[in-house]
Amino acid sequence: MKLKHLLILVFILIAAVPSFVGLRSLNQYTGEHYRQQVENHLSALSLIAKKRVISVIERIEDNTALVASRTQMRISLFNWMQSQDPVELDKIQRILNDAKNGLRHLKDIGVYDRQGYLVATTAESPTVVELPPRRQSQPTISLEPEAEEVLVSSIAPLFLNDESIGYIRLAFFTDFITDLVRDRTGLGDTGEWLFAVRHESGDALFAVPLKYDQQAAFQRRVPRDRMDVPIIQALLGNELIMSDAPDYRDIPVLASTRYISDLDWGLVAKMNEAEVNRLVNQNRIYIILSEIAIVSVAILAGIVLSIYIAGPIEKLKAHTAKVALGKFESPPETGGWQEVKELNSHFRFMIEALRDLNDNLQKKVEERTKELHTANKKLELIATQDPLTGLHNRRYFSERLEQEFSRARRYESSLALVILDLDHFKKINDTYGHPAGDKVLIDIAHYLERTIRESDVLARIGGEEFCLILPECSKVAALTFLERVCQDISELEFQTGNARYSITCSFGVAFQGETTPDSSTLMKHADQALYKAKERGRNRVVEYLGAGRLVTVGDLDQNI
Ligand code: GH3
Ligand code: MG
Ligand code: MG
Repeated sequence: MKLKHLLILVFILIAAVPSFVGLRSLNQYTGEHYRQQVENHLSALSLIAKKRVISVIERIEDNTALVASRTQMRISLFNWMQSQDPVELDKIQRILNDAKNGLRHLKDIGVYDRQGYLVATTAESPTVVELPPRRQSQPTISLEPEAEEVLVSSIAPLFLNDESIGYIRLAFFTDFITDLVRDRTGLGDTGEWLFAVRHESGDALFAVPLKYDQQAAFQRRVPRDRMDVPIIQALLGNELIMSDAPDYRDIPVLASTRYISDLDWGLVAKMNEAEVNRLVNQNRIYIILSEIAIVSVAILAGIVLSIYIAGPIEKLKAHTAKVALGKFESPPETGGWQEVKELNSHFRFMIEALRDLNDNLQKKVEERTKELHTANKKLELIATQDPLTGLHNRRYFSERLEQEFSRARRYESSLALVILDLDHFKKINDTYGHPAGDKVLIDIAHYLERTIRESDVLARIGGEEFCLILPECSKVAALTFLERVCQDISELEFQTGNARYSITCSFGVAFQGETTPDSSTLMKHADQALYKAKERGRNRVVEYLGAGRLVTVGDLDQNI
């Protein structure tokens, strides 16, 4: 795995994963928390609504008590019941009209006798002429459907001197309830208020129109055994938060139930679960987006760091491979982290040192090679040179003879081989000393060197024996030349101390012919000719003529 990939992975592991896990649980927690908030909100709204209803009812009770306490009205009712006097009735009527004008939300006031029959009313066409048979000595408040509308009916007994003389009934408009249920502020798009009374069967009977059923008031019921339905729980007096509970349409809702115990009314604030979940999930989406952002930032940070740290290091690594192959170039500018920059500059310094070292080494190798070359040359020279005269030695001569022999055969050219031996040389040594002998040898060598052509090969092959190869030289030219050399050497003068002396040479010469099989045979022939030259008195040139025939140059008739 490459360093940059490792860095990205590490960042994901140490930054992204914990953040991701943290946000996951935060998401979970936030989801629950948000749901809890919705529940609290619903609960607070329903509690406020309950308190508002209770306060309105208390006002209704107060108002009812206030009207019922009118003494003149009670006296007139008593008198009218005794005398049926229309004047008393008129008085009651006036008092009722007067009371009605002073009360808001009041529809009508009616006064009833002890049997519950209507005596006087503010209504022009009274709908309630007889009270239902549930008269009590205590005031009662109830919701009652009347004609096209629902009213709050507040009935209170009338007493005169502790004696029951009849009843008073105040019918209020229910706009405080309808206003309450119509105001769905805080209940979202799907929320609504439910308001129900207990039907005589025990079922919950909706008392106001519903959002999804405008005709529900005093029409629609929920059976008393549907414990899972919030409005039933409300009427059971259980004030709770119900999740996923079916509403009157069997749609799952989140509901807060309230019970108004004095009146046996149930109140529910609810929202569709779908909407609640949507709100909660909306929040979750923000958190998921944050998770994605955090993971992306962690990956990005990993990439940036890998560019800053791993990138330069990988560049250096690639450059190291070049250096290993002997390319001592300076590393490229890598940039990146401070330490990486330092590494780069150390690396640069190291490469420069290596380069210098390598250059020095190279120079030394070149010098040594040169020295070795010179030494080889010297060795070669030593191996092929005669140390006394500086001429080529026998070894070199043998090689050259071989080459020249082959060449002459290939090009069918002429080749003469000459062996030259100093006559009575031993005497020189014996008479003038060995160094004098050496001097003679050196002088003759120099003479020969000066005399021969450039293409000729001259060598000292023995103590006082020299050899000459004369390539591409005609027989006549060769013999003439040798005669001259023989003559010249005999005329050379040497001196040791006061003594002056000269020396002669004998020459054996053989020419390469078609029948000469090899160079050593040619050598043998020249040697035989030399032998004969010695034998015939020295200081002469003898040519080998083949098949044992030899001739002394200048004495051609004396062939042997
Ligand atoms: P010949 O005419 O038959 O050739 O007689 P020669 O005396 O030349 O022949 P010989 O072979 O008897 O003697 C050769 C002498 O050459 C013997 C030796 O002392 C001498 N000699 C050989 N090499 C050297 C050398 O390098 N320096 C000197 N000064 N003498 C040498
Ligand atoms: Mg000799
Ligand atoms: Mg000799």
